[in-house]
Amino acid sequence: MTIDDGPSLHRLHKLSVLREMGIPAVFFSEGRWLEARPEIALQTIKSGFVVGNHGFGHRHFSDLSLDDCCSEIARTDSLIHSLYCEANQPKHPRFFRFPYGDKGDGRYGRVFSKWKKADEKRHRYLQDFLKELGYQPPALPGLSHRFYQNAGLQKDVDWHWTFDVMEWAVFQKKPPQGLSSLEKILRRLHSTRPTDTRGHLWWSKRWLGNPVSSEIILMHDHEESGGLFRPLLEALVLLPIEFKAIWNGAGEQGQTSA
Ligand SMILES: [Zn+2]
Repeated sequence: MTIDDGPSLHRLHKLSVLREMGIPAVFFSEGRWLEARPEIALQTIKSGFVVGNHGFGHRHFSDLSLDDCCSEIARTDSLIHSLYCEANQPKHPRFFRFPYGDKGDGRYGRVFSKWKKADEKRHRYLQDFLKELGYQPPALPGLSHRFYQNAGLQKDVDWHWTFDVMEWAVFQKKPPQGLSSLEKILRRLHSTRPTDTRGHLWWSKRWLGNPVSSEIILMHDHEESGGLFRPLLEALVLLPIEFKAIWNGAGEQGQTSA
């Protein structure tokens, strides 16, 4: 389970719901909010969750110079490192997710598109930068989705996702895929043909209720969708999914799921 953005004021509620349900999670947090709400980020760590790096200002990396991309990463990295030091965990996992899944290579996150060619030089540069800072890819040997492999995502250091719960859609003026209510989001979790804004799910012939692969599930730490968090997790735990931590040694076992 991965949860992007924030820390929002709703984060503490999420921490207690996740603890209650025994679900480990990585919170990919924004530097600007880590700076504004360090105590919430610290609580995330102390509660046994991972604070990952989601850049500083939630920018489209394809729009930035390479120097600016690196400073988005490094600035947030040092904020996170200070937090872990304050929590007496100077050795901590380093995980990164690009805002919008935009890897800075001109594809603006359209990583599954056959029509968008990546700027390989920029792509490589940023991947190498992450590696130098000690960032690690998800240790998910069971991640066998062909769409993921075909897009080459398993070679990258950053964490993409395989299933977006899309709870954020409810709060859009024009909800994508018509996902305008909690009921519709819940129905999609059980759908055998879930659609996605990126359109990669329908042809992959898989769905959460019939897992053929490990998954990296994406949700968001937004205040507006806070009320949907518990009901969505209650629905997720009913699916045949085992939630696992893939850090603190758990990843070394190679037994991973979502
Ligand atoms: Zn984000």
